[in-house]
Amino acid sequence: MGIDKCPGRLLIVCPALFQRFYDATFPVEVDHVHFTPINKTPLEYAKELKQQYHQKRWYKVATLMEDGSAPSPYPLFKLKDILASCSTVFASKGKCCRNRPISPNTKHWYKRVYKRAGSILRYLCSNLPSKIFNIMSSTVLKPRLEKAKRLANEAYGDQQYNWATYTGDISNCYDELVHDRILEAVQFWCKAIPALLGRRRTDRFSVNKYNRKICVMGNDNTGGDYITITIATLMEICKFDCENSVLQVRGKLYRRKLGAPMGGYLSAFYAMLTFAYREFTTLYPTFEKLALPGWMGRYLDDVIAAIAYKDQKQLVQIQEFIQWLGSHGAYEEPLVLNVEPEGDQEFLEAKVYHENMELWARLHNKVTKDFMARLPPYRRRLPDRDSTPKAEQIKLVASTMTRIRQLTKPDVSMLQCLIDLKLETEAAGYASQIFLRAARSQWLSTSNVLKEEEKELFVLSTQCSLDVAIGNYTTP
Ligand SMILES: [Zn+2]
Repeated sequence: MGIDKCPGRLLIVCPALFQRFYDATFPVEVDHVHFTPINKTPLEYAKELKQQYHQKRWYKVATLMEDGSAPSPYPLFKLKDILASCSTVFASKGKCCRNRPISPNTKHWYKRVYKRAGSILRYLCSNLPSKIFNIMSSTVLKPRLEKAKRLANEAYGDQQYNWATYTGDISNCYDELVHDRILEAVQFWCKAIPALLGRRRTDRFSVNKYNRKICVMGNDNTGGDYITITIATLMEICKFDCENSVLQVRGKLYRRKLGAPMGGYLSAFYAMLTFAYREFTTLYPTFEKLALPGWMGRYLDDVIAAIAYKDQKQLVQIQEFIQWLGSHGAYEEPLVLNVEPEGDQEFLEAKVYHENMELWARLHNKVTKDFMARLPPYRRRLPDRDSTPKAEQIKLVASTMTRIRQLTKPDVSMLQCLIDLKLETEAAGYASQIFLRAARSQWLSTSNVLKEEEKELFVLSTQCSLDVAIGNYTTP
């Protein structure tokens, strides 16, 4: 079976052990909070779903998958927990052999209906107000941190200040989503987004037939390229999806009473919209009341806070705010944000540092970290030299360079990231010209032109010898 976030790797598990993990991950018979049996055979269930499709007139939304079937769930194990010994993982996380409960909906009868509804939910998510925490991509990290710094400089003038940074994640964020809250949030944003965009109220959205990512408010004005879905129908689809997320375990059908399935087409959007609703109504106003300069961001279930303070009293205020954010009242039980202790933080693929008044991020290269610690490169990003054509190798290295530029301040941090990448390229066994040629492709890029200060760093990184690179790594 596969391993989480590790394409190209396989896990071989003893069948008896697998059974134990499977039962623990999908306790459909004993966990009455999350699951309840459907007293129908898969065949009866399929027949009923097909009938309902016609009754609900969802053929106006999308076609039915006639030969569909119920999702058969499977556990997807985390590489970290496979590599480390159970006792080590247990000591730090309180559990071991962690895995994600996946219910692939790829064959669900309503797959296309859900996907079309998903286009509208995606549209809502990407138009969420920018001042609340939600972010849709890690590329905004660098500009947001820079903005936080500007705010702090404005607020404190020539006074000295410090940063407090925290990260956290909303644990089991899919499993614990309450259906009523999901629906309340979807309904809320359907009304609020047009208003926030300064548009007239609308009771419908239209989704492009050929490109799921194109969605507009109101009716189709093109004469046939769009499918129009009213908010009432959208709500009906979401409600049905929440309340009928079916899974087939040992030939029997169950549905979720709580939570949205990992592997469902709408689940990630539900999570984003539900968290954003809570943030818009409660968490962001509380953050604003703190009246301290800084930034709070959330990418799906990962949260980051960077707040500036100039005295002990303000630091205590921040600590109290963060403590509240991590309480059962903030994201609302059963959801809870697990907050890491204050300090430099890992957020998405970046590491965020602070020192006195400085606050910056850089790409966190775990592959090189493993390599330098003489661990096998578990978290391989670059595929094998022999199976990858040179042009592809250059493209892959260049794409990491782009990520570095998106996330990292163009100073010594960027140089370190580039040197880390040079080591990573070396560790993958790529020829040394690959790094050079990738750097040159960035240099010649007309769409994403290197700034003067970046050029200098690129030159330095290409000139840096491997010995110096390794020395640089071992002496921080
Ligand atoms: Zn274990």
